[in-house]
Amino acid sequence: MDFEIPESVESIRKDIREFISKEIIPLEKFYNYELGRMPEDVNQKARVKVKAAGFWTPHLSKSEGGLGLDQLGTCIIFSEIGRSPIAPYMFNCDAPDEGNMHLLALAATEKQKELILHPLCRGEIRTGFAMTEPSPGAGSDPTSLQTNAEKVGDKYILNGRKWYCTGANGAKYLIVMAKVNGSFRKTTMFLVPTEAKGYTMVREIELMGSHGPGGHCELNFENVEVPEDMVLGRVAEGFRLSQERLGPARLTHCMRWTGMARRALSIAREYAKERQVFSAKIAEHQGIQWMFAECATAIEMGFLLTLKAGWLLQNGKDARQETSMAKWKVSEALCNTIDTAIQICGGKGYSRDLPLELFYRDARAARIADGPSEVHKMVIGRNYLSQKWDI
Ligand SMILES: Cc1cc2nc3c(=O)[nH]c(=O)nc-3n(C[C@H](O)[C@H](O)[C@H](O)COP(=O)(O)OP(=O)(O)OC[C@H]3O[C@@H](n4cnc5c(N)ncnc54)[C@H](O)[C@@H]3O)c2cc1C
Repeated sequence: MDFEIPESVESIRKDIREFISKEIIPLEKFYNYELGRMPEDVNQKARVKVKAAGFWTPHLSKSEGGLGLDQLGTCIIFSEIGRSPIAPYMFNCDAPDEGNMHLLALAATEKQKELILHPLCRGEIRTGFAMTEPSPGAGSDPTSLQTNAEKVGDKYILNGRKWYCTGANGAKYLIVMAKVNGSFRKTTMFLVPTEAKGYTMVREIELMGSHGPGGHCELNFENVEVPEDMVLGRVAEGFRLSQERLGPARLTHCMRWTGMARRALSIAREYAKERQVFSAKIAEHQGIQWMFAECATAIEMGFLLTLKAGWLLQNGKDARQETSMAKWKVSEALCNTIDTAIQICGGKGYSRDLPLELFYRDARAARIADGPSEVHKMVIGRNYLSQKWDI
């Protein structure tokens, strides 16, 4: 077991850290609190700089224009990019597009890649992943899936309602999970262009944190025709493919969240080392030192779980249990760390003079999206009890 970061990854990590500090973090001041997102012109200018610096789509192979990192290298680099919540979109490695790229690379036909994957990698289009549905449809429990595609001749007729589809407003294509002919066992992924007749972006849902470009949307599909050649993978492969997508995508969330948690704690450290209270720096009080100890240890534990899951994936092994553990622990470490950092920074932490209050609101979704903590704990516990997995 070797914990040394390879020199090739370490040098990219240092360069990206410097780039994030110099070029990206200063842009956070342009964040539009009214709209809950960055102005798109600022995003686009930053994307040009990221491309020029050679950091674009870092998770892709070199031949596809990326940095050619393995899973462990991706863990290291994404955790640097995650230090700023506005950075992942600027590097074209944010959710859902990064997970969708992975899925399309895995399952799309050459024609589908030409149509969707390649322009997505170049940053010319955006996509969405539409799985979650309003009650009584799929959410924590995917077996409640309601959206259905009826096979008629050489096409499918799609009907259903989805919500929380990140990035859907302005996306060019959506990956939609639906049953086929009412059969849950035949659940399939469909590639739906947003200009398709019968598709409506009903609304961008108002929420607590940032929207990102394209928001988090409620969608309606009414008799949307999907040609056979827009099935992603094969019919009935929907859940297998969703595991292929969601596992690595949960891990890349963990990597970005690790970066955000580290940054929150470092902001608190800066404040605690400078501010004097009761004849000592805040950092000199033992109660505060313990707060730093708890957060730093939780962040490190979560990152080690993330690295382990990444290592398993890299070696073609089953990483589902470790991914659930990482997703649960990193999301909780993130929320607790930001909360603690706000506490340590006092009134300033609660203000917009620091980015912590924005981090706090954005981070809250981490314990819900891509499987709530309770569902991951259920999975971990069941796997342990059934001895499918052991310590
Ligand atoms: C910011 C954000 C972005 C998202 N982006 C997308 C996206 O791009 N595409 C997409 O398809 N979905 C997306 N989602 C949806 C997300 O994946 C779901 O919200 C999540 O899976 C939970 O489903 P639900 O909201 O229907 O909650 P419900 O299924 O209604 O569950 C509610 C709560 O019940 C509890 N619970 C559930 N099961 C159990 C259990 N077994 N034991 C104990 N407690 C339990 C949990 O506390 C859970 O939070 C996003 C959500 C958010 C907040």
